[in-house]
Amino acid sequence: MNPHDHRTQHSDQADLTHSGQGPEPQEERQYRYRFAGPEFDWVRQLADHLLEQPLDPRDQDLVTRQLGRFPRGMLAVGARCACGKPLAVITRPVLPGGIPFPTSCYLTSPEAVKAVSQLEGQGIMRDYANRLAEDPDLAQAYGHAHELYLAFRQELARLTGDGEEHIAGISAGGMPDRVKCLHALLAQGLVMGPGSNPIADMTLAAIEDQFDAAVCRCSLDYEDTETLANTTEFGLEVGQ
Ligand SMILES: [Zn+2]
Repeated sequence: MNPHDHRTQHSDQADLTHSGQGPEPQEERQYRYRFAGPEFDWVRQLADHLLEQPLDPRDQDLVTRQLGRFPRGMLAVGARCACGKPLAVITRPVLPGGIPFPTSCYLTSPEAVKAVSQLEGQGIMRDYANRLAEDPDLAQAYGHAHELYLAFRQELARLTGDGEEHIAGISAGGMPDRVKCLHALLAQGLVMGPGSNPIADMTLAAIEDQFDAAVCRCSLDYEDTETLANTTEFGLEVGQ
């Protein structure tokens, strides 16, 4: 399967480049913290930290080539390969054009996308759903992953001024009680780290021979990017 064929992804991961004019831009809103407990502090701080990093045009170029299209609403790189290239990006709660977008952690690594698509093709999601039904501790951890996701996006919404009213309570990947898109769940696990989402951890373990954030298997290089071909704009010496 072509790793660049993102038609294999599910609805959560499907329409980042949906085009067209939508409603008026969201006006800035006040957000009260529904997820105010200290157990959510770290995930809000993670959102703050990620969005503090200026969006590097090299990363945007690379993600465009990873996805085969421009990553609309991309706010930041959320996770990187050992080599430094983006694996997942952080996306605005409302895309340009006013389109609500719940999948705030979006998997971009072609290698990860391919591995997860193959895993899904083997019917693993049914196994994971069964385990959720049989294991209350796992179900509770998965429910907490859902809350972490919502807390994270709430912070994104606060920082960007985006409204969340069309996606209130909606996270991604089928959470809190279904397993619908391992791409979206893995993206959360890569962004928030091990332990944040048990299904993401299980997915990572299942594909470790094909994908591992600590082992670079990237097929794309920054240097392939045309905009870099004749520039030292980003501090890279031409010819190196
Ligand atoms: Zn890499």
